[in-house]
Amino acid sequence: MKEWIRQLCAAPGPSGEERRVAELIAEWVRPYASEVRRDALGNVIAIRRPRAGDSGKAVVLSAHMDEPGVVALTQDGAGFIRIAPRGRDMDARTLAGRFVRFARSGRLGVIGVDAGVQGDVEFRHLYVDVGATDERGAQEAAQTGDAATFAGPVEELADGLFCAPNLDDRLGCAVVLETLRLSDSPHTVVAVFAAQSEVGSRGALAAASGFAPALAMVLDLTAAGDAPGASHLPLSVGGGPAVKAQDATIVVLQSVRDRVVAAAAAAGVAVQVEASGKAHSDAGAFFQSGQGAPAGGIAIPCRYPGVGAQVASLADAQGAVDVLLELLAQPL
Ligand SMILES: [Zn+2]
Repeated sequence: MKEWIRQLCAAPGPSGEERRVAELIAEWVRPYASEVRRDALGNVIAIRRPRAGDSGKAVVLSAHMDEPGVVALTQDGAGFIRIAPRGRDMDARTLAGRFVRFARSGRLGVIGVDAGVQGDVEFRHLYVDVGATDERGAQEAAQTGDAATFAGPVEELADGLFCAPNLDDRLGCAVVLETLRLSDSPHTVVAVFAAQSEVGSRGALAAASGFAPALAMVLDLTAAGDAPGASHLPLSVGGGPAVKAQDATIVVLQSVRDRVVAAAAAAGVAVQVEASGKAHSDAGAFFQSGQGAPAGGIAIPCRYPGVGAQVASLADAQGAVDVLLELLAQPL
């Protein structure tokens, strides 16, 4: 799974421009799927039918491919590029000095703030410096509408502890890939690698309408509380994957939570519980689509969610795989 994580994090995927991530996933998932396709929104959907003893039921596993970033607005005569957010809940005050890379041109830039800004920094005070000296030079790096994602290395800080600006949710994608690779489920497994989650679950909403699963499980990252000063949050990195109880998009049915907790116990995996009022995930999209579907999730705790470089544990991700494999093996 490590090599998948490294390559997934190295590929840029601003919301709406997930093609590079989607191409990697479509290629890797092919040996484990009966059918792989991309839909109109850019979701990758891989369907794995049972080899024998088909239960006639379907389980959706989903992770999102996109990451937050910024979008180019205007290029001024001195070569600087004004930007707006692509992704919700982004705090302009935290972005000064961050590296970004424009997905289309591959050009690196650094975010600056207008000199002399007093008080709260807003997006209108921010620009990207790509080293251009005139408008034409800036246009070569980014035209209006081009997106950039936060740049930074993919590193293993310590054994099994990964750090990257886009572990959310490439780590979830790796978990779904690994689960599909190892699963011998009697159910049809529909893996949805979703586009445009960071701008409001748009890919997941479209994909969810195509299936009526007996269970949908969303794999995403969530904020841990084991960084200094964050102790009001209950989760810790390395403490095990977290069974979703609620986030801002869903209150998970008790029957679904019980099922996931029982699978974790059967698999011998220690789990935590995610109960967030703020975190967004695609779970709500699957829960509310069509006639509704039993939906839940497994969240991998991370430090510095949002636009920071997230730190998360491979052991927690492996635990999520083990819980999912047990869930997929059980009758529904
Ligand atoms: Zn996410």
